[in-house]
Formats: sequence, structure tokens, C-alpha cells
Amino acid sequence: MNAPLQDLQREAQTLAQSVTAAYADTPLMEVGTRLKELIEGVAAAVSASGSDASLVQTLATVRGIRRALPETFGDRFQFDSLLIQAIIKEWSALGARFSGFIVPRYGPGWGFYKIPMPSEDDKTAHTIRVLSFPGVDRLGDVDLSDYAWLLHELAHDAFYGSRYFVDNFGKRLIDRLRVLKLRSTADVGRAAARAADHIAALERYWTPKLNQQDWAHEVAVDVAALWALGAPLTMQFRRLIDREDVNVCVATDQHPPYVIRAQALAQAADYLGWRDEAWALQENIRMRTAESPNGLLVYGDAEMLKAVVEESLQNCELLRIPRMTKERLEIVQLIDEPKTDIPFGSAMIQLGGLQRSMLTAGEYRSWMESLLRSAL
Ligand SMILES: [Zn+2]
Repeated sequence: MNAPLQDLQREAQTLAQSVTAAYADTPLMEVGTRLKELIEGVAAAVSASGSDASLVQTLATVRGIRRALPETFGDRFQFDSLLIQAIIKEWSALGARFSGFIVPRYGPGWGFYKIPMPSEDDKTAHTIRVLSFPGVDRLGDVDLSDYAWLLHELAHDAFYGSRYFVDNFGKRLIDRLRVLKLRSTADVGRAAARAADHIAALERYWTPKLNQQDWAHEVAVDVAALWALGAPLTMQFRRLIDREDVNVCVATDQHPPYVIRAQALAQAADYLGWRDEAWALQENIRMRTAESPNGLLVYGDAEMLKAVVEESLQNCELLRIPRMTKERLEIVQLIDEPKTDIPFGSAMIQLGGLQRSMLTAGEYRSWMESLLRSAL
């Protein structure tokens, strides 16, 4: 064996040992074993053939996977894992399907992504799903009143299970764009160019993709989170829109501005019978947009939002995600804590949201601390 290849083999050995050690006694133990076996398999084949290209590639892949996987497995990891499992159990009770293995990771913000695991034969390849939480792996960073986002992220996972939304909203989008094109046929010169640009932008932002990286899915899973959580979701959105440090009009290719998301949510809240909440959310939107008018708001086409809301609600029904009703939320409000332990699950997030709206910041913090002490 030549010297560079020997170095590479040593590197492979070190990496194989370190993945096993990093995930020993964690929920990712099996993942660590698989990665180790993968490295060892490729390393053995390379020794026999004398060419190192595949080993270089494998080491890079394994390092990439490690960077995307959870890095810590502390108390908060345990708390968030239990919460995720409890909600998946609630949602599965009526038949909703999930990928099962979803692990928390800590970083700058909320997010959901999939890591495909490499395998020697592609047939057995499986995917790890990671739910990213804001903050670090420390119980003090848990803020349940912000956890409505957890349901948004889990709804992304549920929506991967069906093509319903992509197909049905996709059709309605095409219809709507056709109407807008017809309406603009009489435009000439600059007006015609402006109309064409506008329609092209609507198509780019709203076309639903299977990878869910589009405005339509972001709005649709907000609506699904409202379906599952009820009023506490609109409360969280109102707090967000009221925050002066949050620019409610900023957008990316993947995320529509918060005001457009809030408009859709107000509509969905109305459909679902949360009338007061819908009205209050509308008020927040009205005040914020009055102080900062923004050009992006024209992309919140009312017909399109209506279609996203309706198709998302229909999808929640088809996916059998349990719907939160006023009656069920009233039962949650009756949980007599601290006498009764608050069960892991969406009730915990709902109570967090309700407490946040009733208590001062300091009182809320101590409520959270005692809840975390009794939960773990
Ligand atoms: Zn999202």
C-alpha cells in the first residue's frame, strides 16, 4: 500500500471510531454503527483495489452527515424527544402516518430536514429526520409558548406522506394564473410587462413542490398547525407580528412574509370556528401593515390564499391529523397544575401559550421552570 493510501486508511479508522463513540448510548447508536460499518466496508474494498477515490468520497459523506445530526444529547434533547414522540402518538391515534424517527437538534431557528443515510445497496437506504429547535441543549432555553412551531415542523413531515396538497392546490394555482393572464390581455406596453412579471412571480412563489420549498407549503403547514393546536397558534402569531424587532414584510423564495401567513391563518381560524382569534389576528395585521406598507403584499393574492387554506384543511382531514376544537381546548385549560402533572403532548404547548398570555414574563419563566422540573 502506498503512503497516501495508508494515511487515508488511518483517517478512515479514526472517523469510524469517533462516530461510534459520539453516538454510544444515544438514540443514534444504531446510526453510528451503520456509519462505522459503511466506512469499514469501503476501506476494505479500497485496500483490495488500490484506488482511493471511493474512500475519499465516503469519508466526506460521513463527515457531512455528522455535521447535520444532533451534536448533544442532554436534558433538553430528552425533553424535546419525549414531546415529539407524544405528539406523533396523538396524531397517529387516528391513523396519521409519520416517519417515526425524528430527532431534535439545536441551532439558530426552527426547521425540519431529512438526511438520507448512505448504504452499500440503495434498497435498504433510510432517512433520518431532524427537527431543529432554536437555542442550545439546555432546559433554560425551552419556551413552550414558542413551541407552536414544533407542530408546523411536524406538519411538514405529515405532508410528505401524500401528494394531495401538491396535486390539488397545484391545479387551483394554474386556474388562478389563467384568470389573471386573461384579465391582463388588454394591457399594453409597460402595463402588460408589469402584469406579466407579476404573474410570473406569483407562479414562482406559489407553485407547490414535492420538496415543500415554496410559499404554498409554508402557509399550508401553518394552517395544519392551527388545525392541530387551535387558538394558541394564533396567539403565538400575534405575539410575533407585534414584535418590533421582527420585520413582518420580509420574504425569501421559500418563506412568504409573516403578514401573508397571518392573513391565511386568520382565514383558516375563521373556517375552524376560532372567530374571535381570527378577528384579533386581522387587527394585528391591519395595524402592522398600516405602519409599514410593503410591495410584497401584492403577492398575497386573496384567491390563492383561499385555495391554500381550503386544500390544507382538506389535507389535514385526509391525513387524519386530530383537530383541536374549542371543547377540547377547554378541557386542557382545566388541567389543575401543579397538582396534576401536565402530560407530554400538544396540551403542554397549549398551556404554555395560554400561560404566556396571562402571566408576566417573570411569572411565566417560573411556571416553565417548575413544569420542566416535574416533567423530567
Ligand atoms: Zn416550514
